[in-house]
Amino acid sequence: MPNYYNKDLYKTLNLTFEASKDDIKSAYKKLAKMYHPDVAGSDGDIDKFKEIKEAYDILSNDESRRKYDVLRGFYTQRLAKESAETYKNKYDTYVKRAKKHSEKNESFSNSINEALDSLFHSKHIKQKVNEEVKPPINGSDINLDVSISCFEAITGTNRKINILHTQPCPNCEGRTFINGAKCTMCNGTGEISLQKKINVKIPKDVKQGAKIRIKKEGNKGLHGGKDGDLYLIINIEKNSYYETEGMNLLCNLPITPSEAVFGADITIPYIDGKVNVKIPPMTSSGQKLRLAGMGLYNKSKTKKGDMIITVLIKLPKKLSEKELKLYEELNTISNDDIRTDMNAK
Ligand SMILES: [Zn+2]
Repeated sequence: MPNYYNKDLYKTLNLTFEASKDDIKSAYKKLAKMYHPDVAGSDGDIDKFKEIKEAYDILSNDESRRKYDVLRGFYTQRLAKESAETYKNKYDTYVKRAKKHSEKNESFSNSINEALDSLFHSKHIKQKVNEEVKPPINGSDINLDVSISCFEAITGTNRKINILHTQPCPNCEGRTFINGAKCTMCNGTGEISLQKKINVKIPKDVKQGAKIRIKKEGNKGLHGGKDGDLYLIINIEKNSYYETEGMNLLCNLPITPSEAVFGADITIPYIDGKVNVKIPPMTSSGQKLRLAGMGLYNKSKTKKGDMIITVLIKLPKKLSEKELKLYEELNTISNDDIRTDMNAK
């Protein structure tokens, strides 16, 4: 799929999808003059000019414009609009005629019924109803799980994500049949699946399980129906050291037995840098320390959560001979009064 399907080429030319061929031509002439690097007095932006030229090349050719319109959903929008206008004009004409009849003392309601009847059966409308104008179907929403780190939950982040969404089939243009035969490209479903890459912004202070809505990036509507939305479902990854719990950031902090006895100043990773944690002397394993305001804001941004540190006394993976000797010595002199409070009750 060429990447221009992701761009709004009409916008590039300052137009909407309703633009006529002449509109496209004159918009291109005007913008090309403005940006072409060789034109005296122009701003000379070659990238911008290339973009304009690409948009013009695609939109000025009937075949490539039709394909682009179908894939972007403009085709069905235009079709729905045109058929609504045709219907309205015809309806207005019939109502006017019917009123005239009623002034001639004919039954007004009969005339209206006749008018609507003939309108419904008029060959043109019937053909449109059967072949092209199907009732609009809204595109469904897409849910997508997105994993971020605890720190990204605090700061917010960007993600490039791949979504698989459905669009009207470019071959049959969502009509499912071509000349009475089932469309082979979409197998008669009227839709095809497309991979799409989009950049999404994940706001700061997002909580576990939050649903972020990205408008109109869901499955495309059919026959002029609305496009669905994309929902990002946030999973905040936890590891052995950090996790979030609501507004709070929880941290497991390993310290050595001697740090537990004498206390220590320890630096730990936090967002983009480090933060100092003061361990008081005689700290036990499981003791909690609170660093105020280092968690996530609540929804109304009036209150900020904390970082809650749980201290865990850990042994180094390897103890030297000297260390082992010292532990041996400790072992012979240590008392076990830490267990006197234990009882079976
Ligand atoms: Zn098809």
